[in-house]
Amino acid sequence: MKINFNKNLFFQKISEFFSRRNLLIIFLPYTILSSIESDYYYQNVFLISLLFFFVTDLILNKVNIKFIDYLIVNLISYLFYSLIIFKDTSYTFHQLNFTVFSFIFLIFFGSIFFVIIFIYNNFKFFNVVILIFCFLQFFTPKKNYSREEIFQKYNLTSKIINQEEDVKSELPVILIIVDGLTSAQEIFKITNDKKDLQFDRFLRAKNYIIKPNLASKSTWTQYSLSSLFNFNFHESDTIKKIEILKNSFAYRDDFRFLTSDNSLVDSLNNHNIKSFSYGLIPFKSGELTNDFVINLWGKENFNFEIEMLKNYKLFQSFFHKSVINFIDQRFFDGTPYLYDMNRKNTLDLLKDVKLQNNSFYYFHYFAPHAPFSYFEEFEYKKEYEKLEKNMRFKIHVKYRNFMMNKLSEALNMEKFKNARIIIAGDHGIRESIIDENNTMGAFKGYDNRTLSNYNSVQDLGSLIFNSFKTQ
Ligand SMILES: [Zn+2]
Repeated sequence: MKINFNKNLFFQKISEFFSRRNLLIIFLPYTILSSIESDYYYQNVFLISLLFFFVTDLILNKVNIKFIDYLIVNLISYLFYSLIIFKDTSYTFHQLNFTVFSFIFLIFFGSIFFVIIFIYNNFKFFNVVILIFCFLQFFTPKKNYSREEIFQKYNLTSKIINQEEDVKSELPVILIIVDGLTSAQEIFKITNDKKDLQFDRFLRAKNYIIKPNLASKSTWTQYSLSSLFNFNFHESDTIKKIEILKNSFAYRDDFRFLTSDNSLVDSLNNHNIKSFSYGLIPFKSGELTNDFVINLWGKENFNFEIEMLKNYKLFQSFFHKSVINFIDQRFFDGTPYLYDMNRKNTLDLLKDVKLQNNSFYYFHYFAPHAPFSYFEEFEYKKEYEKLEKNMRFKIHVKYRNFMMNKLSEALNMEKFKNARIIIAGDHGIRESIIDENNTMGAFKGYDNRTLSNYNSVQDLGSLIFNSFKTQ
């Protein structure tokens, strides 16, 4: 009889546990969704956070005041889930801004919790739904793309430029995409100021050949880069058409996919040339690099660089999908901080990288692209976001000179003497007084005859492939 009694007690306890408000259960999906991304720090904080909610639950059970329960479940759901649900649904289901979305979120969940707490007084159904949701997360199949499907979907074709007479060698090739790089010559035509040619002077002194007006067929990074890494698919006019659409954002995932899973890296692989991405996205078939540090595209939505928590890596990691991230970006200096950290990381990675022969390296320097900032050294101002064209150009030039000096410092290192380097913008500056499709290129380790065959940013994939001995 005694055993039966215990058994009943056990089930009774379980049943009580599920009927109650349980912050631990409310928090579970957040922790699962957060740990899906590779983030070293999150694993450290995972168990402590579970313990934290477990203890808070115990305290709240002792206090046992419905109104406090109501406030806390609303607060916790808003804190952890508003941003995730917002980002998951915007553009596909709605185009609300976050403030309006927050309002709807609070009314919706506020009503649900009101019914659960004040009318039913039972969380069982709610808790079971949450647990099933968590369980399903482990079985949701990931969207399965293939490069061929995307090529077909957008009617894309591409062809490698065949240049057998190009100089081929085993020396490493480094591609540095300098995001939003404008042509110094174009700038000089307007400013007539010699100091705006400083970066060009540095490059010439280091034996780079400069193409002062290199065209980019796209003014958006996602199209420009994906085309570069897939041997120029701008022959088909689909890109031109979708690039001018307002909801161009909706195609983002496809083109980011093509940047990661690309034909250049696959072709190099076929000839045992290794590829390393230190850029916006890791190469799917490239060598492993530390993507926690570098993957800006992966971090833009839910970045790990929360300015107001900058001295607390663990908290940055813990709150990265929470509404705190939004508040940091919208009301504090979160936005420039995210990009500044990425700029700094890129410079550090350039300084640290160990170059090997028969290898291709891709770096992405997120400057002189806006936001025009670099920590306290180049202070960010909110008004930079709505400048008229002339003023925007002026600040861009100042920022360009500043950031190119930083890049020159890194490129001055001994180890780059024996490497081939390609520096190019993915496009020029948008919404200014100079042509946004015009950028520049600088090439070290190449000759003029070779370079005359490659005339746009999107041709650089072919140049990189033809740089290696692939027979
Ligand atoms: Zn760009």
